[in-house]
Amino acid sequence: MKVTMEQFINPITEFFKTANKSVVYIEFSLFGTLFIVAAIFLYLFFNKKKKIETEEDCQKEKNEEKKLENKKNQKSPKLINKYLDLHLHLDGAITKEIARELADIQGIPIETDEEKLENLLSVSSDCTSLNDFLNCFSLPLSLMQTPLGLSEAIRLVANNIQSHGVFYAEIRFAPQLHKQKGMSQEQAILAALEGIKKTSLKVNLILCFMRGDDNDAENEETLRLARKYLVPDGGVVALDLAGAEAIYKTSKYRDLFRRVKIYGIPFTIHAGEADGPESIKDAISFGAKRIGHGVRAFEDPEVVELIREKGIVLEMCPTSNKQTHALDSMENYPLMDYLEKGIKVTLNTDDMGISRTNIIEEFNFLETNFNLSYEQKKNMIINSINAAFTTDEIKNLLLSQFNF
Ligand SMILES: [Zn+2]
Repeated sequence: MKVTMEQFINPITEFFKTANKSVVYIEFSLFGTLFIVAAIFLYLFFNKKKKIETEEDCQKEKNEEKKLENKKNQKSPKLINKYLDLHLHLDGAITKEIARELADIQGIPIETDEEKLENLLSVSSDCTSLNDFLNCFSLPLSLMQTPLGLSEAIRLVANNIQSHGVFYAEIRFAPQLHKQKGMSQEQAILAALEGIKKTSLKVNLILCFMRGDDNDAENEETLRLARKYLVPDGGVVALDLAGAEAIYKTSKYRDLFRRVKIYGIPFTIHAGEADGPESIKDAISFGAKRIGHGVRAFEDPEVVELIREKGIVLEMCPTSNKQTHALDSMENYPLMDYLEKGIKVTLNTDDMGISRTNIIEEFNFLETNFNLSYEQKKNMIINSINAAFTTDEIKNLLLSQFNF
């Protein structure tokens, strides 16, 4: 209760106005003074009490705020905004801005209408045709048929993903797809190596064999060059098998990978994307420690168990799987299930230009649709670091950049 000075003084003033002044003077001198002193004392007492109460309330409020803040910090720990991308195709990562720049650099005419250009390079989110998806590779590839075009593409893609927070990437490409204007596979590899020198992003290269029925000699050449240029870090670090998995089965490449293994070249294989779990089983039997996608493993629980037991790393790419219709429905996307089973899952973009995605979007997809937790996100990033085709020294360096 707050008592004002006026509440005590007003009645006295009224009395003083109406009574005989001399009598009032005597009365006032004897009792009035005492009354005023008491009034002042009471006034000070109540207001002091009020002040103490206010200070106590304030302190209480501060303590509550602090508790809430601590609770909040426990629920949403530090933000993770640094990423790795272990499964990224160079020709699938060409955005319209990059395409325009590559065309300008090489004096190649290119579609001037923004929307038309975008439609040539990327599929819409409701794409239902695998053909539409595959057609999107032709324009990017046509811009990477010279050493300059290829090295600049690496630089521009690296700079682009760096702007999304990627700080380590393994960019893959098939040297045999860059021969349209007479460049050899070796020249293509040298151009790509030149490209990674032009960026401050930490990039390693994966060379892709292509599935097909008339390119055995091309794959042999890729193998020869992989042996020649293989380094533990800072260049060509591994091999991959890409292309139409459902048509050209993984089992067809058993002998090729037998030799890859003998030569000690690390490798990953696209498997369990367009084809089923049998394809994953074959890739693992070749000695693959990493599988590109592996999303369809769930169709055979024994293959899921094999992946878990052998500590095989899955390079998963949800947006790409959605657009190529690797699954009937994304509602049952098995990534979270794989994580819960203890499988080493990593998250990647695959073809970010064609799919109009990036690594941040891929994590957003899991957070929004599957409540991906901080711990799960952290685990996937640690999986990527551990699975990277690089040296232990670089892995430790990558890990040291996180403050988990
Ligand atoms: Zn891929």
